[in-house]
Amino acid sequence: MRKEIVKELLFWFDQNQRDLPWRKTKDLYSIWISEIMLQQTQVSTVIPYYQQFLSKFPKLKTLASASEEEVLKYWEGLGYYSRARNLHRAIQLIESQHKGQIPDRIEQFQKLPGVGPYVAAAVFSIGRGIPVPAVDGNVMRVFCRFKTLGMDIREPQTRKKIFSELQGIIPQERCGDFNQALMELGSRICKPKNPKCLTCPFHTECRAYRSGKIDLFPVKSPRSIIPEYPVSIAVIIKGDQFYIQKRPSRGHLGGLWEFPGGKARSGESPERALRREIFEELGIRVDIKTKLASIKHAYTHFKIKLSFFICEISGDNQIRTDYPFQWISIHQIKDYPFPGANHKFFPLLRAYFNEN
Ligand code: SF4
Repeated sequence: MRKEIVKELLFWFDQNQRDLPWRKTKDLYSIWISEIMLQQTQVSTVIPYYQQFLSKFPKLKTLASASEEEVLKYWEGLGYYSRARNLHRAIQLIESQHKGQIPDRIEQFQKLPGVGPYVAAAVFSIGRGIPVPAVDGNVMRVFCRFKTLGMDIREPQTRKKIFSELQGIIPQERCGDFNQALMELGSRICKPKNPKCLTCPFHTECRAYRSGKIDLFPVKSPRSIIPEYPVSIAVIIKGDQFYIQKRPSRGHLGGLWEFPGGKARSGESPERALRREIFEELGIRVDIKTKLASIKHAYTHFKIKLSFFICEISGDNQIRTDYPFQWISIHQIKDYPFPGANHKFFPLLRAYFNEN
């Protein structure tokens, strides 16, 4: 990319940038939150979460002193919950080890949980005017098309190559705008499918457009096949209450609340898997009253097919578990953070309790 291209990009950004709440501030903490929320998530989804999160935790100090459960409640539905837990840990580290001040040096900031090179570059270029390129998937797509770069974008050296090329042209002045402009161009104009080349400030120089080879870039090696697991879940009821438990803080969906259950083994029916899992997990036998729903949900590396059953404890068995647990009514469910997959069946659970 030539330096003249930078001027055209910034001119396009000045004319076309969206009015987004995190663009109205230079507060590092607020910009950091927006960048974490925007990872893997659409701008329109993030806006209300960003506003609610900052109105609940307006300062670094307020977030540092919040409980993990409170933080997860304000992240609920946004997905990728490790982002929220890492952010919370990073903020607590800043409070305890850096006297509540975000580190001055980008190298230190980048080492905090959940930060990494992309977030550090975005936050420091936008908030502090440090000229470091922020290379995300959108930026890589634009660059690979512009230069017809045939390197695989899943490979780390591709990101390194793009970073070093952009390092040579990122302007000292307006470096944050430069990063945001490239990201915005990638998400709104140079889209993965049907890019709007005629409105792109690069279209006279873009090699992929000029040679009619847009579909060939970026090069992306195929992902291995994503497995799907059948999972049986028990809503164990007692009168008008049901049992929920809290997942351990570390690991997938850590710190969120859930219903007990687990993966079916090969050849095992959902009902049989449910009885076995509940016995292994809680030391009780259950009677299945009805199957409430069957729901599919996809994570980044796997999919699940959830079968939800309404159950009762057989006889006078007592639950034995090391997890924190609660018996709650359907009206209290809104007070606990649950994984997104569970939210898909909450309307059916509400209907069940209203009818029974
Ligand atoms: S001209 Fe088209 S392919 Fe090239 S950068 Fe612009 S939108 Fe992307």
